Amino acid sequence: MESPLTLQGKVALITGSTRGIGWACARLMARQGAVVLLNGVSSRELLDGRVAELKAETGAEVDGLAFDVASPSAVRDAYAAIFKKYKRLDVLVNNAGILEDNLLGMITPENISRVFEVNVTGAILNMQYASRLMARNRGGSIVNLSSIIGREGNAGQVVYGGSKAAVVGLTLSAAKELAPQGIRVNAVAPGFIDTDMTRRLPKEKYEQRLNGIKMGRIGTPEDVARAILFFASDLSAYVTGQV
Ligand code: NAP
Repeated sequence: MESPLTLQGKVALITGSTRGIGWACARLMARQGAVVLLNGVSSRELLDGRVAELKAETGAEVDGLAFDVASPSAVRDAYAAIFKKYKRLDVLVNNAGILEDNLLGMITPENISRVFEVNVTGAILNMQYASRLMARNRGGSIVNLSSIIGREGNAGQVVYGGSKAAVVGLTLSAAKELAPQGIRVNAVAPGFIDTDMTRRLPKEKYEQRLNGIKMGRIGTPEDVARAILFFASDLSAYVTGQV
């Protein structure tokens, strides 16, 4: 019997998948049979290296698309390339995100713009183009990455927390709008996960966050990838608009 978790034959784009949660998600989805489209922006070399690594590790079909999720023209071109080559998209994981911590008094307009452009505008632009492709096959699953900070808040994270709360709002509205087309939209709001994003934190902040975790350990990118896979796959076929 076919495993309900399988993504066999599905095409999945995971934004920000050169590192961290996105990379763990790409590895898991490739092992579940998906054609995986990796994305990153800062280094073509890193992206190409990840494509080769994932192909060698899983034997899956893997492609790399270098684009800034916050650039409307780059996003448009990326989806045109996906359509040209694959004619379909089944899964979008809006994972690319940035963190710029600052106490309220130190926040600059540039901080606000950049974080919201990547974390919020990027998610909306990708949902817009992905849903057009998904609607052609009357189905698909979009998974957006929010954060525990968007729901509970944290000192020094007004901008990041605001952007991740916005991800919840945009997820709920898109879920309602796209349900009639068979497209589900859910969000995952991870806690404290061991990636480059959290390794950059000052030691005392890192310890403080760690000490607040009742399970006594930091989460792994693989822990989050499994939750994303649940939403991406048909195991959650009757679930939409959830965080
Ligand atoms: P990470 O290790 O810093 O990796 C970020 C990824 O996003 C990289 O692949 C990076 O690509 C890509 N990226 C950044 N800006 C981009 C842009 N403008 N266009 C395209 N790609 C871009 O982050 P992470 O910790 O895995 O976090 C992944 C997501 O989970 C984020 O949305 C984050 O907010 C969320 N999250 C993380 C945690 C945590 O504790 N780590 C907790 C809750 C939520 P390059 O390699 O090209 O830079």
